[in-house]
Parts: sequence; structure tokens; C-alpha cells
Amino acid sequence: MIFDEPFSAMQAAVDIVGTSPHPANKVAATVFGLGYGLSHTNYWPIPIFEKFGMNTDIGNSSGTVHAETACILKAAHATEGGSLCVTDPFCPNCAKNIAEAGIKKIYIDHKGFDKDFFKRRSGHFETMSMQICEKAGIAVYELWRKDERLVPIFEPPANYFVSEDSPVYREPIEDASEGVFNDVIAQGFKIHNKRKFSVVFAKDGKGKCIALTARGHAVTGFTTEDPDDIKALEQHEHKYNLFQEPVNRMLMYLARHGMKPMEGYFFSSAVPTSREQVNLAGAGIKRITVGDLTKARDADSLTAMKQLSEAGIISYT
Ligand SMILES: [Zn+2]
Repeated sequence: MIFDEPFSAMQAAVDIVGTSPHPANKVAATVFGLGYGLSHTNYWPIPIFEKFGMNTDIGNSSGTVHAETACILKAAHATEGGSLCVTDPFCPNCAKNIAEAGIKKIYIDHKGFDKDFFKRRSGHFETMSMQICEKAGIAVYELWRKDERLVPIFEPPANYFVSEDSPVYREPIEDASEGVFNDVIAQGFKIHNKRKFSVVFAKDGKGKCIALTARGHAVTGFTTEDPDDIKALEQHEHKYNLFQEPVNRMLMYLARHGMKPMEGYFFSSAVPTSREQVNLAGAGIKRITVGDLTKARDADSLTAMKQLSEAGIISYT
């Protein structure tokens, strides 16, 4: 579906929200831009649903992919500069993904603010989710479908500049092969030293092969050079934080530029976090090469790896 304004895009999300498999929190979103639009609910990636059902966590992450993130992972076009409509106020993790995917406008259905679910969780929205959008220069609106009305929650100043501390490194390659893949990984270890990074071979819109290297970083717009940012980064070290892990960052970067990863060429220097592994399953990645299979942010990441590999959902080499 193609949308050139947010009201029909929101309607498309509302139209499918009832089909969300989530028994309690049904959420839907639409990502749209010039010539494209895609709606999706929150959901369990099919292999996770089939092997684990709804009630088993993967490591310390739920097995679901949120609607906003699902839209980004499934978008058939580059999401850069796009817009997103969502039935409910978004969580900080989705805010991070939306920022990394280069989306510039978010519309939230006004009804989402009245739900109990939001009332219980609103702290995270007001502090973290909005803080992320402000730094990333993303405009956020509350939307009324019936009277086609928008009220800004935040609009970035004109000519707002988003600082980026560690751009994703891209390099064209002649042909994808195991040898070239290993060379790019070796180069990554040299450049990023002890920091976590990911490498992917992908095809751009013209079918050309590109090697991408991304390291984990402070969420788009935050830098570790600004003292205020450092303070903000240190404040949020629990359930949500202001770091974007390298595998997740790579998934969002691919979506941002409309690139597809080439099967078998996805590398992570350490075991991805539980959430990253669920997102990998959501993105249909079946194999990942891990630099050090004993190195992980937390024990939960290792648990998630064990679960997904034993279930035959992702193979780790
Ligand atoms: Zn979310």
C-alpha cells in the first residue's frame, strides 16, 4: 500500500491491530515513504512461535518483535527519511531502532495514550523514548484519525544536525567469498580493537556487493564526547539503555538503505544479546559467524544462543 499522508497510514495499522497474536498488548504500525508502505503487528517470528510458543523467553528477551521494529525489518524499500505510524506510544528499544533506520517522523494514535498499558509504562516513553527522538531529530506527533488532526509532541529545530560518532563503514567488494569475508573481519578486529562489531556482506539496490562493518555505539545523536550525554548514558544501565548493539545496528542500517544481507555472511565479534538474536530470527537470518562463542554481554545472551541453536532456528559458527 502507498500512503502520502499519515491518516490513512495510521488507519492501515488500526485495521490490522486486531490480528496481532499477542493476547494482551496488541500493537500495529505502518512504515511509509515515497512509493512504499508496509503495516505489521507485533508478533512472534514463526520459527520462535513454533518451537517456543508465546510464554518462553529467549534469554532475557521476550520472543516477540515489536510492531515498529517488525515494519523496519520487513520494509522492502530504504527506510531513510521515511515516516512511521503506530497505534501506541513506542518503547525505548523501538525508538533506538527507528533512529538507526533513519526514520524522521513518528505519528502515535491518540487512543494509545489512554490505554492502561501505556499508563503503567509511560515513564519510559516520556524520558527515554522521547529523549532518543529529540537527539536523533525525529518529529513526533499525536494523531486523531477522525478529524485528521495532528498535535506535535516534539519537532526538531530547522537545520538540526545529528551527530554521529562512528559511521557504519562500507566498502565495495568484487565478489563475496569466504576469503574476502575473513579479510574484512580481520580488518575489523584491527580497527575496533576490543570493541564489539559486526560485519555483513550485502547487496545494494543495483545488485552490487558491499562489505559493511558496524560497531556498537551510543544511540544516534548521543556521543561519548558530550558530558551531558555521558551522564544520560550512565543513568540508563538497566532494562533499557542508550547503547545500540552492533548486530541490531547492522539490521537497522540494512533497512535504512534498502540492502539485503547475503546468506552466510553475517558476523558478530561476540555472541549477540538476547534481543538481537530474536531480531535476527525476525529478519530471517539463519546463520551467524561469531568471533568468540564464549564472549557475551551477559549470561542471558549465551542462554538465548543455546535455545535458538538447539531449536535449529539460527546456527552459530
Ligand atoms: Zn517497542
